Amino acid sequence: MVVESAEVLRDFPDAATLRRDFPALTQSVHGHPLAYLDNAATTQKPEAVIRAEGEYYRRDNANVHRGVHTLSERATAEFEAARAAVARFIGAAEADEIVFTRGTTEAINLAANAWGGANLGAGDEILITELEHHSNIVPWQLIAARSGAKLVVAPIDEDGNVPLEDFSERLNSRTRIAAFGHVSNALGSVNPVAEMTRLAHAAGALVLVDGAQAVGHLPVDVGGIDCDFYAFSGHKMYATMGIGGLYIRAGIAADMPPWQGGGEMIRSVSFENTLYAEPPHRFEAGTPNVAGAVGLKAAIAYLDNLGMARLAAGEDETLEYALEQLRSVQGLNLVGRPAERVGAISFTIDGIHPHDLGTLLDHAGVAIRTGHHCAQPVMEHYHIPATARASLGLYSTTGEIDQLVAALNEARKVFSP
Ligand code: PLP
Repeated sequence: MVVESAEVLRDFPDAATLRRDFPALTQSVHGHPLAYLDNAATTQKPEAVIRAEGEYYRRDNANVHRGVHTLSERATAEFEAARAAVARFIGAAEADEIVFTRGTTEAINLAANAWGGANLGAGDEILITELEHHSNIVPWQLIAARSGAKLVVAPIDEDGNVPLEDFSERLNSRTRIAAFGHVSNALGSVNPVAEMTRLAHAAGALVLVDGAQAVGHLPVDVGGIDCDFYAFSGHKMYATMGIGGLYIRAGIAADMPPWQGGGEMIRSVSFENTLYAEPPHRFEAGTPNVAGAVGLKAAIAYLDNLGMARLAAGEDETLEYALEQLRSVQGLNLVGRPAERVGAISFTIDGIHPHDLGTLLDHAGVAIRTGHHCAQPVMEHYHIPATARASLGLYSTTGEIDQLVAALNEARKVFSP
């Protein structure tokens, strides 16, 4: 749905070829080839990322920004090169607009605490949507409780879209920030983030976009979206766990106080008066995950080499195939029919609890996720406790979808022989 053109995909390696770059995908599970369809939870890692982190530890490992010795200088150069790579990858104007964090959760907590802590007060409003992951709900609830601000929620419709008129209606002169996902992890809905940003800005609010489910699937351009904050996780874009970031538009970070104190984030410390470093270092207290940043840079190089637009087009074909095949399974109910979808498909099967389904599928070598996907309000919206969710990555094949569908049909036989 994102880019539809055979032309775009000319010479693009097929998923079966790309799989060879990912060592974890070559294994069998319970005697079956692994069909890894849990990419919304985390993606597998290409050899290039694993190698980059290994080489970093074998050769360059040192603490950053503190040493004058060669290894420290090398580690610092690699860390800062990773920052520049991230900035370019997501369309930020400057490397210093990127703060490294452990991932999306920490990035949103940073924004809520550092920006929210300084700028929210009684009577102010924070607008989110019903589609959000808990990571884009709870940090705002915490800062709302502390500041006296009010959390306002824009609803989703039956298809799992955020209607713009409902979103717009909830914006007013009290709205200080609107925080919404780029892509829903529960339903795969793609939000019209540029339009939502425009509406929020017109009301005088800042915008945070939760990009956790977008960065590995779509070309992201924070400049084009025009958002003020963009949060993401490396492990959802083929890098390792424990690294991610927050884009903060230039100019906004300068007025934000730190949210964690410690080493790295200061200019000078005395008992009388501590001065803070400039952003982004002001928000990076303590020793960072340098190896993770090195791996993230390698993941970006891998994705750049494929081209995000082509990758999106390839994945979209597999997604369409998956939707078509899943519709053929008797008793299967797709949850949500978003106008634009990326990555994830949620469903239930009549008479089978999603958790039982997940276990049966695992025995057939198929890894999917079952549960509320850290999006309980979405489950509540559909009056269900949980769904089964199949989610794709750049290496997902139609063969894996066939394996999923065959396993679903077998599971149905177990429950209604
Ligand atoms: N936001 C969305 C939409 C997600 O899907 C996730 C993780 O699944 C997160 C936030 C949290 O990401 P992390 O656990 O990497 O911090």
